[in-house]
Amino acid sequence: MEFDTSTGPNARGWFGEFGGRFAPETLMAPVEELEAAYHAARNDPSFQAELARLLKDFAGRPTPLFHARRLTARLGGAQIYLKREDLLHTGAHKINNCLGQGLLAQRMGKTRLVAETGAGQHGVATATVAALLGMECVVYMGEEDMARQAPNVFRMRMLGTKVVSVSSGTKTLKDAINEGMRDWVTNVQNTHYLMGSALGPHPYPMMVRDFQRIIGQEARQQALEKVGRLPDMLCACVGGGSNSIGLFYDFIPDATVKMVGVEAGGRGPKLGEHAARFAGGRPGVLHGSYTYVLQTEDGLIANTHSVSAGLDYAAVGPEHSELHRRGRVEYTHVSDQEALEATTLLARVEGIIPALESAHAIAEVIKRAPGMPADKFIIVNLSGRGDKDLGIFQTEGIL
Ligand SMILES: *Cc1c(COP(=O)(O)O)cnc(C)c1O
Repeated sequence: MEFDTSTGPNARGWFGEFGGRFAPETLMAPVEELEAAYHAARNDPSFQAELARLLKDFAGRPTPLFHARRLTARLGGAQIYLKREDLLHTGAHKINNCLGQGLLAQRMGKTRLVAETGAGQHGVATATVAALLGMECVVYMGEEDMARQAPNVFRMRMLGTKVVSVSSGTKTLKDAINEGMRDWVTNVQNTHYLMGSALGPHPYPMMVRDFQRIIGQEARQQALEKVGRLPDMLCACVGGGSNSIGLFYDFIPDATVKMVGVEAGGRGPKLGEHAARFAGGRPGVLHGSYTYVLQTEDGLIANTHSVSAGLDYAAVGPEHSELHRRGRVEYTHVSDQEALEATTLLARVEGIIPALESAHAIAEVIKRAPGMPADKFIIVNLSGRGDKDLGIFQTEGIL
């Protein structure tokens, strides 16, 4: 397939037909300031060196590429390799982005970080980086989510972060983002808004992608060392889209590498029962970006459901919408039930308990690997570890 490998974005933040900067007047100045600071930092070897040091010595990079031999044998088909982002400090890929944005904020002279969080994973990673860099930190979290994810609320407080309960709207992630943005506008002098995924107005989707690219860069080198060639397929779960774009990005020009993004199929295809934006959504604007959004016929943002809180969001990062439009990445979805079963299988067969988000990618590979020859190989992004989800397994009656 001929493929224009440059997804951009262009200078105005457009990835082809998606993205941009749909922000209220009050946010334009801070977003422009951020963009200028990021361009300067990106080209500054001392910034890159400090980020590389923290990724290695604090977060634990590089993460291994593990040949899952027993899972491969069990399924019978393509060889399965796991990119072990679950082994990072705080248990997921989110620390890659938080370290990058935290250092950038410090370089901009900011002393305070604000962030939104759904399940609390991004909140914990942000709180961790704030403590590391000696910054004040406030995390906005829906009232509903705070009740569901109490251990992560305690982690954030332990790290010295103030967790603010959001009781507006649906009391979940969407409302937490609104509150965080409001805080940013009010306190922009000393505050950086640390966005948790490849979402939001330009430059966030580009910047978060750049900070997560390390996943694919390492995976590429490790594949060449271990197998002697590039993988036949990449597979990753897609919430906002940061772990997946991080894995995919450096392989986009390689036409022989098939890429599969897996969204949350939830309880079924009815609007409100899932978070499969490409299956049930259409283009619209949410939180500063033009992209695929789950919405009602009147254009109201739809409610979403997924057993994994990290995939439970109505919009997807704009670069994925462009990759979908071009047909470069295939997007599919997996149900709650399939993700729960994949978690159990990986735990029993490989001794690894994946995050329920990552289990969506595992579930897709369970479907595909048996149909592929044994001399093909797949890299799955194991975006996080599953300790945080044990309560859900109890609720679901599995434990
Ligand atoms: C937050 C999270 C995700 C989903 O976010 P993306 O930005 O799509 O990567 C996936 N896996 C884990 C473990 C997470 O914590």
